[in-house]
Formats: sequence, structure tokens, C-alpha cells
Amino acid sequence: MKIVVTVKLVPDPNAEKHIDPATKRLVRTGVETVLNPYDEYALEAALQLKERAGGDTTVTVFAMSPESLKEILRKALAMGADEAVLLSDAGLEGSDVWATSYAMAHALKKIGFDLLVVGGLTDDGSTGAVPGALAEQLGLPCITNARKADIADGKLHVERETDTGYQTVTAPLPALLTTALTFGEPRYASLKGIMGAKKKTISTLTLADLALDAPVGESGSKTELVAFAPPPVRGKGRIETPEDGAAGAKLIFDFLKEKKLV
Ligand SMILES: Cc1cc2nc3c(=O)[nH]c(=O)nc-3n(C[C@H](O)[C@H](O)[C@H](O)COP(=O)(O)OP(=O)(O)OC[C@H]3O[C@@H](n4cnc5c(N)ncnc54)[C@H](O)[C@@H]3O)c2cc1C
Repeated sequence: MKIVVTVKLVPDPNAEKHIDPATKRLVRTGVETVLNPYDEYALEAALQLKERAGGDTTVTVFAMSPESLKEILRKALAMGADEAVLLSDAGLEGSDVWATSYAMAHALKKIGFDLLVVGGLTDDGSTGAVPGALAEQLGLPCITNARKADIADGKLHVERETDTGYQTVTAPLPALLTTALTFGEPRYASLKGIMGAKKKTISTLTLADLALDAPVGESGSKTELVAFAPPPVRGKGRIETPEDGAAGAKLIFDFLKEKKLV
């Protein structure tokens, strides 16, 4: 069985970020790039599924990103992925969610998979729209927010986390799965994993490898970012000095009640 995990390369979540007012795009240079933290959970899920399935199950990581960031995928290989594929092409610059997922879907079709594991959200764009868009483009059942998953009888069996509990869902393969953060903490790469990752393959696809019948990049994007503004600066808040704990608790309760939160 072949499991493919999509991994976006994003600016370090702890770094201060800026938007270029001319292009209205996030400035990605001068900031360290890392694996999108949510995608490390997706990779952990894929590695757990591989361990349970055994046999000839493989895990491939896939990213659409500039070629210069390719080596960052080595971390996913050190964690246990078998190989990596990068889709990189100057013609992809300026792609919105539609164009991104359209190009990704064609690349993923070319790579081939039985199960596609996608993170629920990125730390930079954070639309959470790519999983649904990929499922639509690839004609796959889309099972989101999984806290547990297993493959048995050629089917995907999932526990989906909801606001009130969980649902048990089954889907035929191939399918697309997104993971909740409760699936399990991503593993650390062992020294053996880090050494082994050096020998693993990172191959590159370009637009010439995909038979796209619609444009991507800026001209193929269906959305236009019209304006952006920083969020309003927060006020100082209210400082209270209650006499004791009970008075403090009452103050908090009254405040929440006033805001209709209790
Ligand atoms: C007009 C416009 C122009 C843009 N131009 C650029 C640009 O030039 N360069 C640029 O980097 N971004 C650009 N973007 C942003 C780009 O469209 C989004 O970053 C991209 O669509 C992914 O969206 P997201 O981060 O919200 O993903 P989400 O939907 O939040 O991601 C969910 C999951 O999808 C997967 N995923 C998403 N993106 C990728 C990826 N690239 N590779 C692998 N897996 C992925 C991951 O598993 C992730 O956890 C532009 C956006 C707009 C609207």
C-alpha cells in the first residue's frame, strides 16, 4: 500500500512575519522555513498506519514549494518517510488555493497513492481549504479531523473528532484523510533516522511533467487579494484587585455573565 502525506513548507511559526505591501504576499525570505507543524501530525498518522500494516507499505511525502527549500523535506525522511517528491516551478508563483490544489492534485495523481493524508491547516495561509479542494479534484472521499485510523478489509476505518464526541466512519480506498492534533504527538527523528535520511530520494516534478489543461500561477488564480490590514491593537484590559479568592471568582463569573459566556 502506498500512503502519500502532503507537507507544506512554511515560515517558522515563532518568527515575526511581514506582508509585502507591493505583492500583498507573505515575505518568505530571511525567515527560517520548517515543516508545517500540523503536517507533522499527518506524517505521524501515516507512519503509524505503515507500522501497523507492515508488508510493503510505503510513506511518500509531497510538497509544492520552491526548489531551494527541498532539503527541509529531509526532516520528514528522518522521521521515517521512505521518499519525498517536490513539485516546483516558477509558473506556480502567485497560485491561490484553487490553482495550488489543482496543480497538487495533478502531481498526486502522477505519484499515485492508496491513501492521501493531509494536514488540517497550515500555519501561514491557514485557510483549511486545500484538503476539501484536493478531494474534489481527485474525486476522493474526504474524511477530516481523524483522531484514530486503521486500514482493514481494504477499507479505511476512522474515528473523527467532533465538538461533542466522535464519529466512526468507513471509506473505500483510495481516500483522503486529515488528522486532528489528538492523533498522536509527532515522533522525534532518531540518530539512525537522520543518518538514513541522507540516502533517501527527493525527486522533483515541474509543470512540464503534469498535463494541466488549465493555467496555474497568477493567471490561473480565481481570487484576488484586494486589501489587507493588521488586526487592531488590543487595549490594556481591566485590572481588578479583589480582596480574596472568593471575591476574585465572583468578579470573573460576573464578567463572563455580562459577556453572555456563561
Ligand atoms: C492571490 C493569491 C496569490 C498567492 N500567491 C502565493 C505565492 O506566490 N506563493 C505562495 O507560497 N503562496 C501563495 N498564495 C497562498 C497559497 O495559495 C496558499 O498557501 C495555498 O493555497 C495553501 O493554502 P493554505 O496555506 O491555506 O493551506 P490549508 O488549506 O490551510 O492547508 C491544509 C493542508 O493542505 C496541505 N498543503 C497546503 N498547501 C500545500 C503545499 N504547498 N504543499 C504541500 N501540502 C500543502 C498541507 O497538508 C496542509 O496542512 C497565494 C494566495 C492567493 C489568494
